[in-house]
Amino acid sequence: MHLHHATDDLRKPAPLPLLALHASASAILSVALLPPAGWPLGLACCVLILAMLLRALHAPAAQPGSAASGTALLALDLLVFLLCYALREADASWHATAFCILLVAPYAGVTRHLLAGAGLAFVASLVWLGLQEDFQAGNAATLLLLNLTGLCTSHGQQRQRRAHVLQHAILAEQAVRDHLTGCYNRRYLDEHLLGAELARSQRHGLCLTAILCDLDHFKRINDAHGHAAGDAALRNFAALLGNATRRGIDSVVRHGGEEFLLILPETDLAGGVRLAERLRDGLAQHIGTTASFGVASLACAPGSPAPGAPALVNAADRLLYQAKHAGRNCVRAAMLDAL
Ligand code: GH3
Ligand code: MG
Ligand code: MG
Repeated sequence: MHLHHATDDLRKPAPLPLLALHASASAILSVALLPPAGWPLGLACCVLILAMLLRALHAPAAQPGSAASGTALLALDLLVFLLCYALREADASWHATAFCILLVAPYAGVTRHLLAGAGLAFVASLVWLGLQEDFQAGNAATLLLLNLTGLCTSHGQQRQRRAHVLQHAILAEQAVRDHLTGCYNRRYLDEHLLGAELARSQRHGLCLTAILCDLDHFKRINDAHGHAAGDAALRNFAALLGNATRRGIDSVVRHGGEEFLLILPETDLAGGVRLAERLRDGLAQHIGTTASFGVASLACAPGSPAPGAPALVNAADRLLYQAKHAGRNCVRAAMLDAL
């Protein structure tokens, strides 16, 4: 759902017409305001502004760099005004004013509220213009326009930057989750979770327990009630596992079709067996089916060599197999080094 919002924001057109207006007005003003001696420099600024504008216009909106190149262009506009200020000492106060007004645009763009930012830019512009001794309506209107277009542009860029960050976070989360149940997926287990938890248990000399559980005769649920009912049972089972474990400490992984793996840091064998029994009860009461459990524990001593990452899961798998052969709906448990 969040991804929808992020992609919607990314699809919204970037405020490119405003950016183009802002950039070309800055370029024209840079030449118009400079004394003849400064025209080569002014022209060089124009070329640079034009090149950056083309770059910003050609960057697809969905690319993270598009907002950055727009922001760089706004910053360049401000630098050009600084340059005019430095080269026309006689009009120092006028240029200082112009610069201050233009500064408002990027800063006001930081706010999420466009109207508040626009109001700020408008009031600031009027105050600074009111302080001018030789008020010129044409210049005032140009500056006001520049200021407001700059504000709208940077506001749009902020919106896109936020959408990029959100989209990146959501995609990263989706890459490690199973989409049916929301549990971690096998890739996350193999590439990160198991190795990280083993290393942490090793470092601090803690126990680590894995519970592998598999719904009994799950195929019959699919056959009798349909695949959708089977999916619902899997989601309910995953919710039961999530609710029974510690949030932020334990991890629930969808290991296979109807097989789930719990990784329980700082949990000894007795604690793992207690949890498995609680889950067995919960299943019978709330989901009306049964499951078999294999519980394997590892007691790490600081500095001792760690077993390979798959050893703990393989041990839990062997114990699950024993539970199935013992008639299902039961728990089999052992320490890893006793197997
Ligand atoms: P056992 O007690 O030995 O575990 O028997 P079982 O029927 O649970 O195990 P089996 O391996 O024979 O069948 C597992 C079934 O799980 C087969 C497959 O169609 C089903 N399954 C796997 N993934 C999904 C899924 O995502 N949704 C649904 N509805 N069914 C799935
Ligand atoms: Mg099964
Ligand atoms: Mg199975």
